[in-house]
Formats: sequence, structure tokens, C-alpha cells
Amino acid sequence: MPAQLLAVRTPPSSSRPSKRDSVGAKGSGELDIPVARRSPLAKPQRRFRLRQSLLTASLLLAGTSGLIWLFRDPIQRQLAPPPLRGLNVRQGLDGRLLGHFPYPEAPSRDLVDAAPGIALHREAAEEFLAMQRAAAADGVSLVLLSGFRSLALQKHLFFDVGSERNQSAEQRARVSAPPGFSEHSTGYALDIGDGRSVGTNLSQSFEGTPAFAWLVQNANRYHFGLSFPAGNTQGVNYEPWHWRFEGSAEALTLFEPAHRLVP
Ligand SMILES: [Zn+2]
Repeated sequence: MPAQLLAVRTPPSSSRPSKRDSVGAKGSGELDIPVARRSPLAKPQRRFRLRQSLLTASLLLAGTSGLIWLFRDPIQRQLAPPPLRGLNVRQGLDGRLLGHFPYPEAPSRDLVDAAPGIALHREAAEEFLAMQRAAAADGVSLVLLSGFRSLALQKHLFFDVGSERNQSAEQRARVSAPPGFSEHSTGYALDIGDGRSVGTNLSQSFEGTPAFAWLVQNANRYHFGLSFPAGNTQGVNYEPWHWRFEGSAEALTLFEPAHRLVP
């Protein structure tokens, strides 16, 4: 018999009333009728289960909202159209496009000429010129080949030069960043050549020059670091000539995501 139903029958022959009688019946002889009553635990149990369900639902909702908030940038990127016209590629979860991190274009007020026709961010320019003087004192000629590049110039270098060379976007990205994704846009990145070995300009053979050897020994003193070392995990070809300035909070912040990939 279910626990919830307790049949109350006529009083037993014993003169002492049973406990069951005292609960369900009032001690008369007309009590041969089953009396249903609910277990006293049923209602609180239902309330408890309801509360548990509400708590679980709230936790799930809070967890989902938290995950969406944490990954809002990658989610937005996945929902947005590809960032560049003519390039049907989306940014990865860390913001990279074909291996390159996104960078803003430096405002012109922050730029100064560090060599004829080549601008750098003011702080990077000061440090480069100091580094150049120190190298010259050691008999080494550091030549500034390239510095700040506007988005328009980077667009030309990526799309037009890529097209002239019959390179796919992926092939082009291994040697040049898409516009909006170049360290050169920040004014903090520069390409350095050896004034006594111009044939090695922008070539991996630059690593065999006295200029490169001097940079490896001394560039850190001037807050310059190699952006794309050999075997870098960023997926960009080894560029011994391409260095970036990391001697200010702003520069460090800009390059922090890339720094995490290249120890
Ligand atoms: Zn470069």
C-alpha cells in the first residue's frame, strides 16, 4: 500500500486506541472509510526541487553569459565579415590574420624623421639614432631601410606587390603583413641594413653581417628586439633585419600579444 494512503478501520478490539487511530480517526464506529492524506514531506520536497532547478538554471545562465563576455572579441570577429576586402580570410581567436596581429596606425603627431623620408615613432627614433651612433663608434654601419608605413602603403605592398609577384594571400603573408596588421604601422618597427653590405638588405643573408652580429649583442640596450626570429611560432618567415622598439609602456602594450608567442 502506498505510504500516502492510510486506511483507517474500525477500532481494534483492544481497549487502548492505536496511534494510527488517534491520527486518522476520531474514535467512532462509522470509520470504515479510507482517508487519504499527504505525506507531510511532499510539499517541502517539491519546493526544494524547484529551488534546485532555479539555482541550476541561474548558474547555467551566469556561466554562459560569462563565457560569451570572455570570448566577446573572437565571437564578434567570427560574426563580422572578413576584415579586408579582397581577402577572404578571418582573424583567428587571438586576433591574428594570416599570422599577423592587428596594429593601429600611429598618429602623425607621434612621428619624426629618423632618416631622409623614413619616419619612426619619436621614442623609437631617439633610441635608434643613439644605437646607430654607438654602432658607428664600434665601426659598424646601421642603415635605416624602412620605418613607419601608412595603411595605404601597406595595402600597396601587400596586394599590389603580391599580385605583381603572383603570390596568393597566404604566400604573401609569410613575407609581408596585410594592411592593419603590420608592426610598421605603429611607427615602432624598423628594417635595418648593413651600410657596408647593401647586397644583404632585406635578405636572410643579413644575419651574416657585422651589423646583425652587433645588433644581437647590443639592441636590447636600446629596447629593440627581433620581431620574427628563425622558427617563430607566429608563422612569419625569419626576418633578421626587422626589429621593433619595446622601450615604452605603449609599445610594450601593443606588442604584448606577439611577445607571448615569441619568448
Ligand atoms: Zn619590416
